[in-house]
Amino acid sequence: MTTFKELGLDDQILQAITDLGFETPTPIQLKAIPHLLGTPEDMVGLAQTGTGKTAAFGLPICNMIDFNNAKPEALVICPTRELCLQITRDLQNFTKYKSGANVVAIYGGASIENQVREMRSGVNIIVATPGRMVDMIERRRVNLDEIKFVVLDEADEMLNMGFKEDLDKILQQTPDTKKTWLFSATMPNEVRRIAKNYMENPFEITVGRENSSADNIEHQYYQVSARDRYLALKRIVDYYPEIFGIVFCRTKAETQEIAEKLIKDGYNADALHGDLSQAQRDYVMNRYRNRHLQILVATDVAARGIDVDSVTHVVNFNLPDDVESYTHRSGRTARAGKSGISLAIVTQKEIGRVREIERNINKRFTLKLVPNGDEVCEKQLFHLVKNIHDAVVNEEDIRDYLPPITEMLKDLSKEDLIKKMVSTDFNRFLDYYRDSPDLNMDPKKQREQRRDGIDLSRGEISGRFFINIGDMDGLDKLELRDFVVHCTGLTNDDVGRIDVKDKFSFFEVEPRIAPMVVEGFQNRYYNHRKVRIEVSEGRGGSGSGGGSRGGRGGYGGGEDRGGRGGYGGGEDRGGYRGGSGGGSGRRSGGGDRGFGSKSSPSYGSGGGGGRKRRPF
Ligand code: AMP
Repeated sequence: MTTFKELGLDDQILQAITDLGFETPTPIQLKAIPHLLGTPEDMVGLAQTGTGKTAAFGLPICNMIDFNNAKPEALVICPTRELCLQITRDLQNFTKYKSGANVVAIYGGASIENQVREMRSGVNIIVATPGRMVDMIERRRVNLDEIKFVVLDEADEMLNMGFKEDLDKILQQTPDTKKTWLFSATMPNEVRRIAKNYMENPFEITVGRENSSADNIEHQYYQVSARDRYLALKRIVDYYPEIFGIVFCRTKAETQEIAEKLIKDGYNADALHGDLSQAQRDYVMNRYRNRHLQILVATDVAARGIDVDSVTHVVNFNLPDDVESYTHRSGRTARAGKSGISLAIVTQKEIGRVREIERNINKRFTLKLVPNGDEVCEKQLFHLVKNIHDAVVNEEDIRDYLPPITEMLKDLSKEDLIKKMVSTDFNRFLDYYRDSPDLNMDPKKQREQRRDGIDLSRGEISGRFFINIGDMDGLDKLELRDFVVHCTGLTNDDVGRIDVKDKFSFFEVEPRIAPMVVEGFQNRYYNHRKVRIEVSEGRGGSGSGGGSRGGRGGYGGGEDRGGRGGYGGGEDRGGYRGGSGGGSGRRSGGGDRGFGSKSSPSYGSGGGGGRKRRPF
C-alpha cells in the first residue's frame, strides 16, 4: 500500500498529516499528489466532496511554495464562506510545521479591513470566495503577481451560483505562468469552457464516475402522500434516535418552516439558509459541528461546503431539481471513510425523479417503509434502556442524594423500579404513537382512489375558501391553483383540494396559513373581474373530478397528533419541478423546470408580448 512518504511529500508535511490521523492516501490523493509534485501542470479533477480532494491539491501546494516569500504564491477559490473556512483550516493544519506560514481566508460578510490586516505581514496562501476576492483586487488590497497556483474548487457550483464573471476577473489578474487546478463534482459545459479558456492541456483525473456517488452511501426512499411528508420525517427521525442528520429543503421558507416545526415538536434542530445573518449562520454551524444540534435543516446553497464528519443521514425532504445537487447533498454523509444513508421522502409522482437520479449516479435506491408507531416505540425504548445502562455515574456528586432517594424508592421491587424508570420518559412516545396511522403510500390504492375521485380527507378543514371565479371564467384546477399561488406567495404544495364549479370554486390550504390567503386576495382582479374570497364552512361536493387533465385536488387530514389542523397537500398537482415526464396530465409545452416557466396562463404581469398571459 502506497504511503504519503512514497508520494514525495516533505517531512514537515508528513508530520502534520500524521497529527491529523491520515494513514493512507485516498484514491484522489494517490492520483493527484505525485503528478502535481512532479512537473506541475494544469489539472482538472472530477471528484466529489468527501474524497479528500482538499489534501489532494493542498499538500502539493504546501510542499512547493516558498514560505519565505511574503507575497502569496497560491490562491484557492471556492463557492461559499463555509468551504472557504474549511479549506483554510485544512491548509493551516497542513502547514503547521512550516515556520511563518500564513494562510488567510477572504470571504464576504466579514470585515474586509481585518482580512487585509491578516495579510499585512505576508501571506502565502489565500483561500477566497469569488465576490470578496474581486473586491480585494478592485480595491488594490492584494497583489497576485507571484501567484504560482490557482485552485478552482467546486467549479460547477461557483458557476451555478453566478460567479462566472468574477472567476474571469480573478483569473485574468493572475500571471500567465501560473498553473490552474480545477475541481468539480460534475463537468457541465460551462466548466469545460473555463478549462478550455484558462488551461493548457490539463491533466485529467476522475475519482468515481461523473455524478456518481460514494460506495459507502446507501440511498433510500420512502413513499408517502405529500401531506404526510413532515410526519414521515418525524417518524424517521424518531426511528433513528442517534441520528446526526442534515434535512435538505428546496427553499429558504420551507427550510425555516420545517426547522420551526421540528423545534416546536421538541427536536434538537435548527435552520441554515441564506436569509440568516452571517452571525446566525456561524452560530448554527458551530452548534452543529460541536454536535450540540442533532438535526440541521438547510438549503442546498447554505449547506454547500459543510464538512462535518459523522453525519449519519442526509434527508431529502424534497428532492432537488437536478442530479448534481443530489450528489452534493448525499456527499455530506459517508465522509472520511465512514458510511451513511441518503434518503428521500417522495410522493408517487416523484418516483420518476428517483429513477432519474438512480440512472445518473448509477446506484439503486431501496424502497423503505415509514416505520409504524410500534416500531418507533420499540426503537426508542431500547435506546432509552441503553442510555440508562451506559450512563456515567458521578459517584461523588450523587453520593449525598442517594440515601434519601433510596429511602423514597424502598417499597419498589427491582422490576417495578425498571418499569417506572423506563416509563417516565417513554410514556410520551407511547401516547404520541398510539393508534398512529400507516403513512406509507400504497401506489395501487392511490391510483384507484384517484381514478374514483375518492377524497382521502379525514376531518374538517377550516382553511377552506370560497372564491367567486370558476369554469365560466375559463379556469380549471391547475389555473386556479396558479392564481392562488400567484396572489398569496404560497407554494404549489400549500394548496390542497380544489373544486372548480361553474361560477365559483373552492380551494383549501392549511388553516395555519389561511391568513396569508386572506391578505393575498386583497384587491385582486381576474380578467378584470374583482375577486372575492370567503372562508367556507364545511365541504362542497367533489366537483368535476379528475377529468381529462388527470390532476386531482387533494385530501385533507394528516396525522395531526400535535394539535395541528389537518391539511391537504396537493400532491397530485403540485408538480415536481424535475420535469421527468410522468404524465400527470399537465399540458405540454413550455419549460418543464420551475413553475414560473410553465406555459400559458400563469401569473400575468399583463405586460404583453411573448406568451399569452392572462391579466390577473
Ligand atoms: P475533502 O474531500 O477534502 O472535503 O475531505 C473529506 C474528509 O476526509 C475531511 O474530513 C478530511 O480531513 C478527511 N481526509 C482527507 N484525506 C484523508 C486521508 N488520507 N485519510 C483520512 N482522512 C482524510
